Amino acid sequence: MKVGFYTSQREYTEKQKEFDTAIHDVLKNGIATLGQQVKDFEKAVEEFTGAKHAIGVASGTDALVLSSDILGFKDVKEVITSPFTFLASASCIARHGGKPVFVDIDPDTICIDPNKIEEKITDNTVGILPIHLFSQMADMDKIMDIASRHDLKVLEDAAEAFGMRWQGAGDSMKHSGTIGDFGVFSFFPTKTLGGYGDGGMIITNDDNLAELARQYRVHGASKKYHYDNLGYNSRLDTMQAAILLVKIKYIKEAISKREKIASLYKERLSGCEHIRFPKIKGNQSPVYYAFNILTDRRDELNAFLKENEIGTSIYYPMPLHLQKCFSYLGYKKGDFPVAERISKEILALPIYPELTLDEVNYVCDKILEFFKK
Ligand SMILES: *Cc1c(COP(=O)(O)O)cnc(C)c1O
Repeated sequence: MKVGFYTSQREYTEKQKEFDTAIHDVLKNGIATLGQQVKDFEKAVEEFTGAKHAIGVASGTDALVLSSDILGFKDVKEVITSPFTFLASASCIARHGGKPVFVDIDPDTICIDPNKIEEKITDNTVGILPIHLFSQMADMDKIMDIASRHDLKVLEDAAEAFGMRWQGAGDSMKHSGTIGDFGVFSFFPTKTLGGYGDGGMIITNDDNLAELARQYRVHGASKKYHYDNLGYNSRLDTMQAAILLVKIKYIKEAISKREKIASLYKERLSGCEHIRFPKIKGNQSPVYYAFNILTDRRDELNAFLKENEIGTSIYYPMPLHLQKCFSYLGYKKGDFPVAERISKEILALPIYPELTLDEVNYVCDKILEFFKK
């Protein structure tokens, strides 16, 4: 049996009529940037997340770049983040001359270790950029507490976190991205809510920040051809918005299918002494954007699964402090031992809503077979 890591073909086959109609409607309405579907999709995201404002942009990366620019994560100011994430979480700071300051991760959750943040705060620190990684949110209670005591801005990288919610003390559940000053989503195809190309969104409850984000996505224009700030050309594409409007209708179902797959993986693999799973911490509802296992024989297992035509992925094989593009920051091997160890042990298994439980069982059979050898 061949089990791919991800395909959009099954989803398209299931919902072909709806997708085709959505695309045709865009074509029939005539050419439009920031067309009606973008506005409708922004509204749908506001409703789903409870955010007051949702601003569609060209990608999750751009969402991070625009919001870090607006929050002043630039000009040699320091912003605290994790070295164990996708490049864009830190390049958005460096892009405008800001300085990413890394803090090691919690070995259980793989998110930034909130207990190590405060020791890195200096007079030059302006913000914290937590990443809600793979299946769970970073500890937003501790992060918001630190931020308010030190007067720091918080930009939540919720690129992978559509659907994840966090419950603070005495609070109701809050959607990822709605707790800090800004939150960002990515609609990269493999994400929990993914399009058929690039797309992203900035969310916020702050009216002024929302207005700035709306301006920054159209070159900083407060009205046509009047530029108050140096902005970007970064709009969510109307065609992608039309596709995402179809997909957001089924998002709860998609999330619960991911949950079922994750449960089956855990049930089948938890007896295996060579395998560990990240632990969910804090009062939150996780969403399995990725399903990761941790094993000290990761590379051998990965090669075995490849031979057996099972798709896998390694997020992330090299922590950001060791990347060539960040060598100027002066970090060295050994600076963040947890991130470095996890990058050698982590392996993502196939998970997407249309994956069958037979396929999941087959992946588990092969993994268990490998460890019996
Ligand atoms: C996917 C991702 C991004 C970037 O999103 P794009 O839409 O691909 O630009 C940023 N941060 C994290 C953690 C991601 O997983």
